[in-house]
Amino acid sequence: MEIFQTSEGEPEPGLGPGPGPGPPHEALFLALAYLPVLELLAMSEVCVSLRDCVKNDDVLPWLNVVVERPLNRRLSDQNLMRIASMSRGRLNTLALINCSRITDYALHSLVQQNPLIQKLFIPGCTALSAEGVIRAVKTLSQQGHTLKNLWINGINDIQKHHLETLSSCLQHNPKEQQKPQRPLLLFHEYKNFSTIRHYYKDQPTIDIEICPRCKELRPVFDCASKACKAKMGCKGCIFCIPRCIECSGCFESLEQEEAVCEDSLCLDCWLQLPKCNFCNKPYCKQHAEEKGLGSSTSAGFVCEACEQNRYNSDEEWE
Ligand SMILES: [Zn+2]
Ligand SMILES: [Zn+2]
Ligand SMILES: [Zn+2]
Ligand SMILES: [Zn+2]
Ligand SMILES: [Zn+2]
Repeated sequence: MEIFQTSEGEPEPGLGPGPGPGPPHEALFLALAYLPVLELLAMSEVCVSLRDCVKNDDVLPWLNVVVERPLNRRLSDQNLMRIASMSRGRLNTLALINCSRITDYALHSLVQQNPLIQKLFIPGCTALSAEGVIRAVKTLSQQGHTLKNLWINGINDIQKHHLETLSSCLQHNPKEQQKPQRPLLLFHEYKNFSTIRHYYKDQPTIDIEICPRCKELRPVFDCASKACKAKMGCKGCIFCIPRCIECSGCFESLEQEEAVCEDSLCLDCWLQLPKCNFCNKPYCKQHAEEKGLGSSTSAGFVCEACEQNRYNSDEEWE
């Protein structure tokens, strides 16, 4: 009896201070459903139980198929179909961010096989056509009106009449028509897809509209700067109203500073970020992460541009 109690009370191997590997923490299995495809595939190679969870019986991780960098440019129609087939027709989110090789044909086959898609994010999928997107969205809305969010910024040749057709497909559900306003669209959230994909739960939205300033079809951002909120006039695409990449404030009320990655920052955000030891410019958080700098750069770092300069001047001296 006592023996049983002790062994049950002990932490699982691998989780506590004890030596040696053990089974993965339960939380990892729950996290699988939220991972982008590349990370999901990587997890399946960690151990047998994760592999089984990803590849065999559990459909859950495949309800949201998210393809971002670096997999996106290489993703072919065939690979996408293979990945999406893991969801067995129950796909909820299909997010193809800048997947430039995906064609209208693949998109349409996917929506036909997955009538429950609620979020279709296909920005920058340059091989898709406006007509192809309309066909896919119409098919979805005929199958049951589940589609709530549609991101199509960067699809070639989208015109105003295309947008009207798409909006009417999304609004087709009478329940959605009662919703008065679209939720705020903030630049820094839109730029960082991983933060926004869980965001718009119920509001029907398309990411582009007519910019009130330049009249082009683009994402139109709201302002996050406190000084601006009262004015309400600070709404526009990123070309008409440049904004801070970290906080979405515009520079009408905030001082503009430069980052190494050529993104713009407000002074407040600039002050908070770690700077390059040579040029004293920061990376924005997303680019810092991509460069593997993370948040633990207390010892400082040398940015890519300064690294390159140093290399060039070393060469001159040799
Ligand atoms: Zn504009
Ligand atoms: Zn800022
Ligand atoms: Zn503003
Ligand atoms: Zn530098
Ligand atoms: Zn940046």
